[in-house]
Amino acid sequence: MKKGKLIVFSAPSGSGKTTIVRHLLAQADLNLEFSISAATREARGEEVNGKDYYFMSLDQFKQHIKNEDFVEWEEVYRDNFYGTLKSEVERIWAKGKNVIFDIDVAGGLRIKSKFPEETLAVFVKPPSVDELKRRLKERSTESEEKINMRIAKAHVELATAPQFDVIIKNYDLEVALDEAYQLVKNFINEGKSH
Ligand code: 5GP
Repeated sequence: MKKGKLIVFSAPSGSGKTTIVRHLLAQADLNLEFSISAATREARGEEVNGKDYYFMSLDQFKQHIKNEDFVEWEEVYRDNFYGTLKSEVERIWAKGKNVIFDIDVAGGLRIKSKFPEETLAVFVKPPSVDELKRRLKERSTESEEKINMRIAKAHVELATAPQFDVIIKNYDLEVALDEAYQLVKNFINEGKSH
C-alpha cells in the first residue's frame, strides 16, 4: 500500500486543536481524512459513533490492546482510554488520502517516532492556562471535576511542546487557521525539510 502522510495535531484540551483540524479537513486540496480514534468514554453532545470516535467498552478496548491492533493508545484520563487503530490508518491510506489526527501529546509523539518520515507533528499552544480554563468552562460539556482534571494535565502537556516539529500559537484563531493550512500544504507537497 502506498503510504500517505500523517498530520498530527496535539494540544491540551481546550486549545482549539479540534477547530483547526475541522478547518483543515474542509480544504479539499489537502486530501485529508480524519483518523477516528477508539475511546472508552461516553459520547458527548452531538458526537456520533463511527464518525467522531469508535466508542467501546473497556473490555473491548483491552482486547484490542491484547491483539496489538493499536498504532498507539493512552489512558489519557483515569479510566478513559483512547487509541489509534492500525486499521484506521490503513483504511485512509488505501483511499490514497493523508491522515489527520486529533490526539493527546503522548500519542502524537508516539506516531511521530513510529513514522518519522511520514509525520508532521504540530503542537497547538493556547495563550495561557487561565484562558484554557475559561474556554473549557464556556464549552460546559463537562463537570467542574473533569475540567480541573484537564487543567492539571495541561501543565504537563505544555512542557512537551518542544518535542514537536512545529508549534502553532492559537492566540488569534484566524491567524492560527491560516498558519496551519500553509504548514500542512507545504509538508504534503514537499515533505520534511532536513
Ligand atoms: P476528548 O475526551 O476531549 O474527546 O479527548 C481527550 C483527549 O484525548 C484529547 O487530547 C484528544 O486529542 C485525545 N485523544 C483522542 N483520540 C486519541 C487517540 O487515539 N490517542 C491518544 N493518545 N489520544 C487521543
